[in-house]
Amino acid sequence: MARFAIDLKEGKIADNSTDTIIGIDLGTTNSLVAVVRNGKPEAVRGEGNKHTLVPSIIHFSSGGDIVVGDAAKDKLIEDPHNTIYSVKRLMGKSFKDVQNYEQHFGYQVIDDDTESLVKIRVGNKFYTPIELSAEILKSLKSRVENELGSVVSKAVITVPAYFNDAQRQATRDAGKLAGLDVLRIVNEPTAASLAYGLGKQDAQTIAVYDLGGGTFDISILQIQDGIFEVLSTNGDTFLGGDDFDRSIVEFWMKKNNLNPENISQNKHLSQQLRLKAEEAKKSLTSADHFTEKVDEIDCSISRSAFESLITPFVNKTVDSCRQALKDAKLKVSDIQHVIMVGGSTRVPLVKNTVGQFFGREVYDKLDPDEVVALGAAIQADVLAGNQKDVLLLDITPLSLGIETMGGLMDTIVPRNTKVPVRAGRQYTTSVDGQRNLKIAVFQGERDLVEHNRKLGEFILRGIPPMPAGLPKIEVHFIINADGILKVKAKELRSEMEQAIEIRPTYGISEEEMGKMLMESIQHASEDMQVRALLEARNEAKHILLSAQKFLQQNDEILSEAEKATTLSLAKSLQSAMEGEDKDLINKAIQDINEFTAPLAHRSLDKAISEAMKGKKV
Ligand code: ADP
Ligand code: MG
Repeated sequence: MARFAIDLKEGKIADNSTDTIIGIDLGTTNSLVAVVRNGKPEAVRGEGNKHTLVPSIIHFSSGGDIVVGDAAKDKLIEDPHNTIYSVKRLMGKSFKDVQNYEQHFGYQVIDDDTESLVKIRVGNKFYTPIELSAEILKSLKSRVENELGSVVSKAVITVPAYFNDAQRQATRDAGKLAGLDVLRIVNEPTAASLAYGLGKQDAQTIAVYDLGGGTFDISILQIQDGIFEVLSTNGDTFLGGDDFDRSIVEFWMKKNNLNPENISQNKHLSQQLRLKAEEAKKSLTSADHFTEKVDEIDCSISRSAFESLITPFVNKTVDSCRQALKDAKLKVSDIQHVIMVGGSTRVPLVKNTVGQFFGREVYDKLDPDEVVALGAAIQADVLAGNQKDVLLLDITPLSLGIETMGGLMDTIVPRNTKVPVRAGRQYTTSVDGQRNLKIAVFQGERDLVEHNRKLGEFILRGIPPMPAGLPKIEVHFIINADGILKVKAKELRSEMEQAIEIRPTYGISEEEMGKMLMESIQHASEDMQVRALLEARNEAKHILLSAQKFLQQNDEILSEAEKATTLSLAKSLQSAMEGEDKDLINKAIQDINEFTAPLAHRSLDKAISEAMKGKKV
């Protein structure tokens, strides 16, 4: 669909603006953008540039200019304090979350109060990780606009499977800030599977092994009927190609009898050695030996020496794979495909070790740097309506609901529900004249909210005073395609409405989720009893209130004996309610109901005959 659009920044008119939706891999080390053209996903190169990768680095010049990518990478040595990298690690994080690994950053991460989100100091300005990521996204956006000769405004962005709602929302906000309408946030392993065309066939269980520059992730996915379910994730947020480079530098220092302290003092030299080490590592993918010099320092290394240096790291990744399988309750033989993602999986030792562990040949035909972006582009193309045979759905890993009387969990969206989803239920008040209603949202499988995870709460105010049970309050849960939950409450008579969007600052790991599920199974029968008791108590409370009302309203028509019996039955119910025996409570409820039912009829008859008085039938 062609339409005209003006790119204000460039001041030029694009005559063939498209509805192309772009796919973006916003990485810790490198980012890239891809689009589907003529039915094929392609990563986009920069102008006059051989690379598709854009280093996720941002440099701020003293004059206020911002550069991103290779040009910023060059500034890492000359101007380290104004050069920001690895922002992805900070997305959606509070200072408290990151203060323990603050030393990993060459720049200043600050905050005024430890609970709120981090900021990064550059000179005397402060930037949020969202703003910094937006700079990377802007540069990718203009790269693809140059290539297509048209303006793009819609994107799919990938994130690690373990990203929580806060991190996903931050990524989405970064997109918005960069002028992109983020149609969907997709898990990186899901994107990688799409790039390999998985998901169109029968049910499959696959492992996605992603070893990048600074992070390692293993994800076990189940694909069925177009639904990509993350069964488990594991990994190490500080393990990757950077460790390989560092160990090569250490190897050279030993070999040349250099004092590491002296070298680290000399920022320029140590950076040079680091870059040389990366070069050596890359060349050893195909060569058996690397020989070069940096300032008379002998920088040679053989492939076998390199392999023994990195063996401990590679073994650690295998331990994570083992754990991920265990968490997913699967055996190695259950895995049908293993996909390699991330630049560091080019290392032959990595590929072979992983292949051996899973007992099969790994998928490595696609460029491991590009595979996530290619998958994102495919997802984008699906959203654009160009691919009909792929269905992309996610599911809710745990049930979602609200707290009702007595601390009970009332599930509104059960676990394993396909998203996007919209579900609702009606509630009412439990006290006469109640003006406010607290809606507390929980996630989990247990019957009591105290055993589940609280996601947030809000108060629906301004309910017009009405007798208990009369207000009609509709609570709706809406989960969008990114798994972000919106909860709305509305009193139907007064139209009072209140809503929240849930973005818990602290996410939940797969491990915790597994634990919550396990506990719900272990405590199932105990929970059922507790629920039955609480429900009986809620019912009793309701009956007592109506009995009280009944006595007040029908004082004239009831005999003293009837009043006394009703009162004594109410007293027994009251005391049963204070005990732990649900059967006793239910019996007391039954007794009082049976006794008062005929009285209620009489009261009704009287009310009717009053109303008929003086009227001719
Ligand atoms: P991220 O997902 O963290 O952004 P990438 O997937 O882009 O990271 O991986 C970057 C890492 O891959 C760097 O450490 C880089 O040195 C490494 N790498 C790239 N090519 C090769 C290669 N041929 N051999 C070994 N490592 C490589
Ligand atoms: Mg990556």
